Amino acid sequence: MRAMVLEAPRTPLREADLPEPEPRPGQLLIRVLACGVCRTDLHVLDGELPDPKLPLVLGHQIVGEVVEDGRRVGVPWLGWTDGECRYCRNGRENLCDRALFTGYQLDGGYAELMVVDERYCHELQAGYGDVEAAPLLCAGLIGYRALRLAGNAERLGLYGFGSSAHLVAQVARFEGRRIFAFTRPGDEETQAFARELGAEWAGAADEAPPEELDGAILFAPAGELVPAALRVLAKGGTVVCAGIHMSDIPSFPYELLWEERCVRSVANLTRQDGAEFLALAPKVPVRTYVESLPLAAANDALERLRSGRVRGSLVLVP
Ligand SMILES: [Zn+2]
Ligand SMILES: [Zn+2]
Repeated sequence: MRAMVLEAPRTPLREADLPEPEPRPGQLLIRVLACGVCRTDLHVLDGELPDPKLPLVLGHQIVGEVVEDGRRVGVPWLGWTDGECRYCRNGRENLCDRALFTGYQLDGGYAELMVVDERYCHELQAGYGDVEAAPLLCAGLIGYRALRLAGNAERLGLYGFGSSAHLVAQVARFEGRRIFAFTRPGDEETQAFARELGAEWAGAADEAPPEELDGAILFAPAGELVPAALRVLAKGGTVVCAGIHMSDIPSFPYELLWEERCVRSVANLTRQDGAEFLALAPKVPVRTYVESLPLAAANDALERLRSGRVRGSLVLVP
């Protein structure tokens, strides 16, 4: 089977012909129909996440067809948990001590075929095409978890308006929240995109919005955004850091945190998050803005993501 393989961090993916993976008991062999490109893939590529499986097939937003019976399934980042650690036992499998993640410790979807543990796959409803459904599986899921952890913030700031934010914005609007979008300075195209999706204000990340915000979700992996977001937050507001990796957060005066402001991260997802979000998405309905590229263009896709030249989500099609 054809796959794009990471052999060592900080080197381009190599197009390779690999032997077909063989499912073990409890696993399914899946034909990949579409695989979304995520910022996390870039962090693995850049060596910013420790100890990836090597060589590795990246990709954890997979729409696939079960080879055995033709069922269509979605495969997310959470690929396996032990089910017995203290986190798993109290409903926090996203924090499992021994969790394995797709496209990181397990081979992912930048390939024609892959194997997955059946228990961590999601049923996909018919309403979405393969390419359209792919970004729901991480950008959508992690965004949804981040939105929940932002509490009931009515005025919500979204920092970095890419794959995840463009989906979260739609859910948040559906819930009656008001959206304020922050982009790289001068990125008027993305600001216009955010307004199109219901943001009532869009500007640069270092600008002050027209009023205080009740919560903010940071999708851009830039630590300096933490104090920037705290600075525009009303009392009691939460800054949620949604990425798996972020540059160092600069020190800031305690008064930015005072009055019960809060900074927290979001780690991974639970199967429950997946089930909830995938049931909610068609009700909103969440529309995914996607651009599809052939699998062999994976390196180009990752570089475009790095430079921010993407409207919505990029999806690879084997
Ligand atoms: Zn992801
Ligand atoms: Zn566990």
